[in-house]
This record gives sequence, C-alpha cells and structure tokens, in this order.
Amino acid sequence: MKAFYAEEQKRHDPKAFLSSGAPQPNPEQPERVERLLAGALSAGCTIERPRNHGLGPVAAVHTPEYLDFLEHIYARWQRIEGASAEVIPNIHPIARNGSYPASAVGQAGYHMADTACPISGETWQSALWSAWSAVDAAEAVMSGAPAAYALCRPPGHHAFADVAGGFCFINNSAVAARVLHKQAARVAILDVDLHHGNGTQGIFYARPDVLTVSLHADPVRFYPFFWGHADERGEGLGLGYNFNLPLPRKSADAAFLEVLAVALQRIRAFSPDALVVALGLDAFEGDPFGGLSMTTPGFSRIGEAIAKLDLPTVIVQEGGYLCDELGDNLTAFLTGFGGKMR
Ligand SMILES: [Zn+2]
Repeated sequence: MKAFYAEEQKRHDPKAFLSSGAPQPNPEQPERVERLLAGALSAGCTIERPRNHGLGPVAAVHTPEYLDFLEHIYARWQRIEGASAEVIPNIHPIARNGSYPASAVGQAGYHMADTACPISGETWQSALWSAWSAVDAAEAVMSGAPAAYALCRPPGHHAFADVAGGFCFINNSAVAARVLHKQAARVAILDVDLHHGNGTQGIFYARPDVLTVSLHADPVRFYPFFWGHADERGEGLGLGYNFNLPLPRKSADAAFLEVLAVALQRIRAFSPDALVVALGLDAFEGDPFGGLSMTTPGFSRIGEAIAKLDLPTVIVQEGGYLCDELGDNLTAFLTGFGGKMR
C-alpha cells in the first residue's frame, strides 16, 4: 500500500494546551510522525511525498474567509503588543451568524473552537501538506489502488468549513472525500477516532452524497461535548445521512467491534462507491486520553472488518497520541485491513 507524507508536516510544533483550564504540554507532537511512519513501514507501506496541489482541494471544503485567516493570522498576531507567541483565542461568539470582526483577536475567536489548536508560524504550511497527503492518497485510489494511507499530521476531523479545533486546521478526511467525488457519486466517511468527528459531520451535514458515520466516546462527558450525540442525524437533504454511535467510556474491543458492525451495516445500505476511514488510534487503552480501552489486536480486527466492505478506501490519519504502542497500533490496523501489504 502506498502511504503519503511530507517532511513539512512535522514543522507545526504546538506548545500550549489548556486542559480543564490548566496549561499543559500539547499532546499533538511532531514525534507522532516518527511513530506512525515506523508503523506504516512495518505494515509494508511504501512512503511517498505528496505533490503540491495548491489551494484548490482545500478550498473545496473550507471557506475563503477561513483559509485567508489561517494563512495570515500568525503574522497579524505578532503585531499585537504583548500577545502570546502562538495564536490562542480568548473570546468566542455565542452565535456565528452575525457580523465578522476585523481584529485578529476577534477573528481568532470566530475561527477557533477551543484553545487546543494554537497557530504558529509553521502551522499553515504543515496543515497544507497534511491535506495534500490526503489528496494524493485519494488520487492513488482513483487511479486503481484498492487502498492508500495518508499520514495526515496535523489531523483534521475537528475542523469545520470555517473553524479550527482540537489540534485540527484543515479537514483532511473531508478533502479526501471531495477528491474521491470526482469519480465516486457516493462517498462514505467512517470515523473510528476516540473523539467524535464533529468537523467532518458539520461539513457534510446537509448533504445526501456523503454518509458520515462516527464511533466515539460518548460526548455527554467527553470532548467535543456539543456534537456527536445519537440524535444528530443530518439536516435538510442530508437528514438520515449522518450516523453517530457514542460508546460508554472505557469500552473495549468486544463492545467497539459490536458497534462497528452496526456502522458497517449502515454503510452497506448507503452503497457507496468509495470509503474514507478517519483513522484515530486514540481509542487505545494506553493512549494518554484514556477514553476507550481498545487493544492492539483490536485495531487489527477493526481493519479486517472494514476491509470486508470491499470498497476503494482512503485511510486518513486522525488522532492517536504518544505511547509506546502508537506505531504498533497503526501496523495492526493496516495489516488487519489488507493482510501484509506491499
Ligand atoms: Zn481523537
């Protein structure tokens, strides 16, 4: 299987992260890349550098207002006397359908859902290359590969069309889905990350041509709190095309796989032409977030179950944080998905 990754994706190096109000080291570390690369290589992947695809595939998902903000906010922030080194918002609109602020501080609050997505001078380029990895993986699948893996870092599934959040800036899974749409009439996105894929849900919420399905720790007491509940089913033409499967905290392999079977049944009923797997590995029992209790062999079984859909598949990396088994968990998923891939 081909895997896509560019060195530029490592430059984004966020420092701060507010956890229950307290400053903590940001868990979305560049070191994740090394572990995931090792895991992909162990699964038999060949690593390729993506091409520069320009803004087009990203602008198919995100608003121009937001992309302009992401590209320029760091330089603007530096001109504010006494401002933090990284762009971190301190005020958010209660509703986002009113006026658009002119100030950098106001726009940061408008475009950033939380304090977990600090923007540095490297963030824009890293996020772009991460998205381009997803584009190349989608193009490989459109060219006939049964599957391809995009080592997307920074991750993407918490990014809405015009909002960053939860370590995410550009929604790589959504970008991959839109690229697949050039050939595939219907695309399903299956998100197995520990956290609900709220950005992905939001981007396609009113659309019947992209089915979004997410398994995650129940948001009633877990990030992202305001999205991911079972009664969020889509709206307008998209009603019935969003499917959330919240799991009780600390659910382990058996419970996860049982709910995954329900998710896969829904995907079969949608009869998609292609699939995007938003592959978070943070449902692992040893992940620092500790929300679910999947084991390494469990990820292999997730891969096996998804492979039975027999669909052209783009696997997009989402979460999964530093622990000794991070690379092994990726290897387990990829080998489960495709046997020992070449
Ligand atoms: Zn996550």
